[in-house]
This record gives sequence, structure tokens and C-alpha cells, in this order.
Amino acid sequence: MTKRADAALIGAGPAGLAAAAYLARAGWKTVIIDKNSPGGTARQLELIENYPGFPDGIPGKELMRRFVRQARRWGARFVRARARGVRRRGSDFAVGTTAGNWECRALLLCSGARFKDLGLANEKTLEGILHGAFDEAPRLRGRDVAVAGGGEAAVHQALLLSRYAREVTLICRGPALKAMRRLQSALLRRPNIRTLTRSVVAGLRGKKKLAAVLVRDLKTGKISRLKTSSLFVLIGKTPRTGLSLFRKKSPGFFSAGDIHSGRFRQTAIAAGDGIRAAMACEKYLRGNR
Ligand SMILES: Cc1cc2nc3c(=O)[nH]c(=O)nc-3n(C[C@H](O)[C@H](O)[C@H](O)COP(=O)(O)OP(=O)(O)OC[C@H]3O[C@@H](n4cnc5c(N)ncnc54)[C@H](O)[C@@H]3O)c2cc1C
Repeated sequence: MTKRADAALIGAGPAGLAAAAYLARAGWKTVIIDKNSPGGTARQLELIENYPGFPDGIPGKELMRRFVRQARRWGARFVRARARGVRRRGSDFAVGTTAGNWECRALLLCSGARFKDLGLANEKTLEGILHGAFDEAPRLRGRDVAVAGGGEAAVHQALLLSRYAREVTLICRGPALKAMRRLQSALLRRPNIRTLTRSVVAGLRGKKKLAAVLVRDLKTGKISRLKTSSLFVLIGKTPRTGLSLFRKKSPGFFSAGDIHSGRFRQTAIAAGDGIRAAMACEKYLRGNR
């Protein structure tokens, strides 16, 4: 049976949760659909130190728990399902999910961004190639692990891994890391992290599981073999725009958060953008009653 809402939101990360709380509080029947537990990427962050209002930082899980509580308090309905497709039905939208269909007057796409792939043939099939699996770190105690990337996400992950792993090798394409200075200083204080600049992952070896990473030195062209069963690929993000409509300007369709390509992807920005989209959506719902 198809269920109805005024507004349906796809993605319960900070953007979707902030938007859901806003719309539900404004009195609109709001449903928020996520294939995972609510909280998105932010939920996986051990400690968020730069969210305004928390001078000592706050674990991502706890911050997102508060977002969820706030949205629930105003009556937003949470659905655990993967959104499979979105279609226009007259002036409404039809959202197909793995747990049934929804019809709504307005749709907010807050599905975030996904980590880019390396573009290597066996990358999708080998076990041990990870992206944002931040909670994996404690399971890698005593192992040698590799991280590809030189930005904030990669350095953040290398620091986290260095607390458990024997050695962390950070493979960075550019001549220097791009992460903020504070993270780079922290990196220098960890003796078990080594950074290879001007280097890229040129190949992956292993049958079912990753056994080694081939690293190409871009200065010399030389390829070396790094024995490891875990490679974190954090070389940038690309918007999750798989669901249709995103590129078309469609009345009643809004999007917010990391899905907007751009360099500034942060929890507070996503939450603020969620509220911006919710306010535009509110205006649309009022005008189209
Ligand atoms: C390593 C790392 C460190 C970071 N550190 C910080 C930091 O210190 N401070 C900070 O402020 N920010 C940090 N961030 C950024 C922050 O996590 C993101 O900016 C924020 O989570 C984006 O929120 P969002 O709601 O746009 O997307 P997300 O949080 O990614 O949420 C998107 C949601 O959409 C869901 N979804 C996607 N497709 C579908 C579908 N088809 N059907 C149903 N659900 C779907 C996903 O399951 C997910 O829950 C960090 C990010 C990373 C990767």
C-alpha cells in the first residue's frame, strides 16, 4: 500500500535530520527514509571537535542521537529502507523503497556523497578495500594497513588507525598533504605512520582478500609492493545523485548537504543546508496547498 506524507526526505544524515526536524516542527507530515541507522557519515565520527556549541567536542554518535531525538519529538517518521527510485506523479512525487512506496508533495534528497574509487579492475571484488568504515580501526590491531589520500578524511583515518595498527602507510598523490595543519602536526607525532608523497596505488594483489598494494612512485616511476590486507580509499567524494530528478529543476524538489559537490563538507554546513532546504520546502508546501 502506498503511504502519504507532505514531505519525504531521503537520507538521515545531519542534512536530512535537521530538515526533518524543521519541517515536522512546522506541522508538515514528514517521513525520513534511510537505508542505515540514522546519523549518516557524522554518526561514524569518533569525536566531532568543530561543531559549534560543543567546546569539548562531541562523539558523532551522540550528536546524531540528539538530532534524531529532536526530529522525533516533532513527529517526523523514520523509515529504514533504501530509496530505489523517484518519479513525478502529477504535481506529487512517488518514492519507491525496499519497504514500500511513498507519495509526497515535496521531496528532499539528502543522500550525501560517496567516496571515490581508485578505478582499478579488482577494487570492487577484493575483500579489504574500505572507504568510510571508521569503526573498523579497533579490529586492525597489530596489522599493517594502508590509506590512499592526502586530504582531511585520509589523515583523520590514518591517525585513528595508528592507535591500533602496527604501521600505517599513507599514500598521497600530491607533493604534500592537504589536511589542516593541526592534523598534519598530529601525524608527525605518530611514529607508526609513514607518508609516501607523489605516490599512487597502481594495483591490488590478492585472490579473494587483499594481500598487497602496488605503489607507484610518480617521481621515479618505480613500483613497490606493500604487504597489507586493508586499504582505506579516501581520495575524495562524489555526490550520491543516483536517484533521478536531481539535475532537473523540478518544483517541490530540494536537496541539501554533502550531495552538493564542493569542497566544504562539514556536519554544521550539512545541518545548516538542511534547514535552508527545509525553509524553501516549507514555502513551497504553503504555496501549493
Ligand atoms: C573521515 C571524515 C571525517 C570527518 N570529520 C568531520 C569533522 O571533524 N567535523 C565535521 O563537521 N564534519 C566532518 N566530516 C563531514 C561530515 O561527516 C559530513 O559533512 C556530513 O555527515 C554530511 O551530512 P549529509 O547529511 O549531507 O550526508 P551523510 O551524513 O553522508 O548522510 C547521507 C545519508 O543518506 C543515506 N542514503 C544514501 N543513499 C540512500 C538511499 N538510496 N536510500 C536511503 N538512504 C540513503 C545514507 O545511508 C546516509 O545515512 C567528516 C567526514 C569524513 C568522511
